[in-house]
Amino acid sequence: MSNLLRLACLCLAALAAGCATPAARPLARTPLLLVSIDGFRADYLDRGYSPALRSLATEGVQGAGLQPSFPSLTFPNHYSLVTGRYPDHHGIVDNAMSVPALGRFTLGNRAAVSDGRWWDQAEPIWVTAQRDGLKTATMFWPGSEASIHGRRPDYWLPYDGDMGYDARVDHVLQWLDLPPAQRPGFVTLYFEAVDSAGHYEGPDAPQTDAAIAQVDHALARLIAGLKRRGLYDRLNLIVLADHGMAATPPAQRIFLDDLIDPAHAQVVSTGAIAGIIPAPGHEAEIAGALLKPQPHMQCWRKADIPARLHYGGNARVPPLFCLAQVGWLITHNQATALHHGKPLRGEHGFDNADPTMRALFVAHGPAFRPRTWMPVFPNVDVYPLMTHLLGIPAQPNDGDYRAVEGMLEPAAR
Ligand code: AMP
Ligand code: ZN
Ligand code: ZN
Repeated sequence: MSNLLRLACLCLAALAAGCATPAARPLARTPLLLVSIDGFRADYLDRGYSPALRSLATEGVQGAGLQPSFPSLTFPNHYSLVTGRYPDHHGIVDNAMSVPALGRFTLGNRAAVSDGRWWDQAEPIWVTAQRDGLKTATMFWPGSEASIHGRRPDYWLPYDGDMGYDARVDHVLQWLDLPPAQRPGFVTLYFEAVDSAGHYEGPDAPQTDAAIAQVDHALARLIAGLKRRGLYDRLNLIVLADHGMAATPPAQRIFLDDLIDPAHAQVVSTGAIAGIIPAPGHEAEIAGALLKPQPHMQCWRKADIPARLHYGGNARVPPLFCLAQVGWLITHNQATALHHGKPLRGEHGFDNADPTMRALFVAHGPAFRPRTWMPVFPNVDVYPLMTHLLGIPAQPNDGDYRAVEGMLEPAAR
C-alpha cells in the first residue's frame, strides 16, 4: 500500500471511530530505552558479577535468552533487533561485505558504516518512530550514523569505543531530562567491553567476569539516575545482547590456504563464517575444493544453505559460504585470526541454534509483567515488541508479536 493510501485509510478509520484526528494510542508515549551489552551470553547473568542486572531481571522479565539471527555477528544482529528482519532480509549480511556497487564494508570503515546505501534495504525503528512524531536518540547503535530513508536519529553520536561508560549513561540521562517537546521517546545505549574481553581472553576468563562487572556498574548508575528522576517505574527498559561467545582454543583453526589457492578467490570474510567469491575462470576449481566434506567446517553454494538459517537469498551473500564447527575458526593464515590485533580466544558468528550463541534478554517497566520468565525466543521478535510498546506502525518484518506478548501486562497488550 502506498503511504498516501495508508494515510487515507488511517483518516477514514479515525473518522469512523468518531475522532477528528487519529486516536491517541494508550501506550504511545511511555519512553523506551534499549540497552545492548555486546556479547553478553545469556548464562553470564548467573555468574554473580552483575547484581544490578540480576535485580532488574528478578523484578521484571528474565528468561532463557534470545536466539540471535544467523550469522551470530554484531552488525547483522544489531540491525535485526531494530528492524525485525533476518540479515538476509535487511542487507547487513556480515560484519564484512564486498559488493561491486558499494565497495567494501567493515566495522572500522567509518565511511561505509555511515553510508545509508548499506542499510536502506530495511527501516530501523528510530526512523519509523521519528516519522510517527517521536524524538529518537542513540548512544551508539550500528546503523545510527547513517541517513536511512532520509532520516537520522534526532540525537546521535559517532561511535567512539573510548567514550567512558559513566559518560554514556549520563548523556542518556541528560536526553531524558530535556523538556517534553524535545525529550526522546526511543533511546539506545551500547557497551562493548564484555564482547571485547570474550574475544581477547575467552568467555570463561576472569577478565570477562571483570567486564561483566564493569558494565553492571554502568547499569547501576543508569538505574540510580532513573530512580532519582522518578522514571524507573515509568519507562520501559530492555537490556539485551546481540549474541553469545564460544571459546576458540588456538589449536582449532582451519586454514583456507591449505584448501584453495588464495590467488584464485576473494575471501570476503573469515572467522566463524567465511564468504568466498571465486575469481573468474576458477569457479569450478574453488567450489570443488570447498564443497567436499571438511572435518570442522561445512561449505555450501549460497542457494543450498539450510533453510533454518534463513540465509543466502541476499545478493550480498558471496556465492560460496562456509560455517565452522562451534569453537573453530576459518582463517587464511595465522595472522588473520585476530581481534583488533590480538589472538582470538573467543568468537561468535556460529550456528545461531548453538546454546553458546544465546544472548541476554531482560526487561523492566510499566508494560512488563513483574517476575516473569520467558523461554528462548528469536531476536527478530524484539522489533514487533518494541513497535507495540511505542505504539508505532511496524514495517514488514520476520518477527512475531504473539510469541512475546505474554511478557506484557494484560493492559499493555
Ligand atoms: P564484533 O567484531 O562482531 O565482535 O563486533 C564488536 C565490535 O563492533 C566492537 O568492539 C566495536 O569495535 C564495533 N562496533 C560496535 N558498534 C559500532 C558502531 N556503531 N560503529 C563501528 N563499530 C562498532
Ligand atoms: Zn557483538
Ligand atoms: Zn564480538
